[in-house]
Amino acid sequence: MSPVEIVLVYQSLLGIYGDRGNAMVLRQRLAWRGIDAVLTEVEPGDAVPSTGSVYLLGGGEDAAQISAVRGLKADGHLFGAIEGGAVLFAVCAGYQIAGRTFTVGDDDEVIDGLGLLDVTTRRGTERAVGEILTSWTKPDGTETLITGFENHGGFTTLGPEATPLARVEIGIGNADDGTEGAVQGKVIGAYPHGPILARNPELADYLLELALDRELDPLPRPELDELRRQRIAAVRRAGLRR
Ligand code: GLN
Repeated sequence: MSPVEIVLVYQSLLGIYGDRGNAMVLRQRLAWRGIDAVLTEVEPGDAVPSTGSVYLLGGGEDAAQISAVRGLKADGHLFGAIEGGAVLFAVCAGYQIAGRTFTVGDDDEVIDGLGLLDVTTRRGTERAVGEILTSWTKPDGTETLITGFENHGGFTTLGPEATPLARVEIGIGNADDGTEGAVQGKVIGAYPHGPILARNPELADYLLELALDRELDPLPRPELDELRRQRIAAVRRAGLRR
C-alpha cells in the first residue's frame, strides 16, 4: 500500500502560529498504528501535489492570506484533489481563505477565497484572542470538547452548504451565533491553534478516518488524556474571568 500523503501547504505564508504541528500529529498517529505516511511541504511556486490524502492550511497575516489564495488558484491542483476525495483541514487564516470571501485592511477590501467552504469572513467587532473551548458533536453523536487558542480579527458567517464544526463554550469562534468552524464534505475549517490536533487527538483521528475512508483502532494514551483534563479545567477556571 502506498504511504498516506499529508501535504503541508505554504508554511512560509501560513506558518506563524505553529499549525505545522498538525502535520506532525497526523503523521505520528498513523505511525503509532503502523501505517506509512509521508509529509510533503509545498511553497508558493512549487506545484501542489494531487496525490495527497490530507491537505493542511494554517494561520497567517492578512497580506499572506492574499498571496496564498493567489498561489493556490494559479496552481489549481488543490481543487482537483478535494474533488477526488482528499481532506482539507484549514485553520484560522487557512479557514478564511478556504471560504467564499474574506476582508483585509482598514478599508475592508473584499478578497475572493478558494470557495471550498460556504463561509464568508469580515472584520469583527473585536479581536478574538485567548483560549477557546468548544463542544463538538462527532458523527457518531457523542460529544467531545475541543480546546485551542484563537487569535483572529475576522468573524465568519456560514452559508447553507456548510455546517458548524462545534459550539462555543468559552471564546469567540465564528462569532455570529455561538458556533465554531465549518464542515462541508471533507473540507473542515476551524479557528483554534494550539496546534489544535495536538490538543485534540480525537479530531486528528476523525480527519484520518475521513481521509482513509475507514475506522481506526483507538489509541489509548492516558498521559494525553490527563494533560487534556488539566488544560480544560484551567481554561474553564480562566474563562469565567474572560
Ligand atoms: N488574518 C486573519 C484574522 O486576523 C487570520 C489570523 C490568523 O490566522 N490567526 O482574522
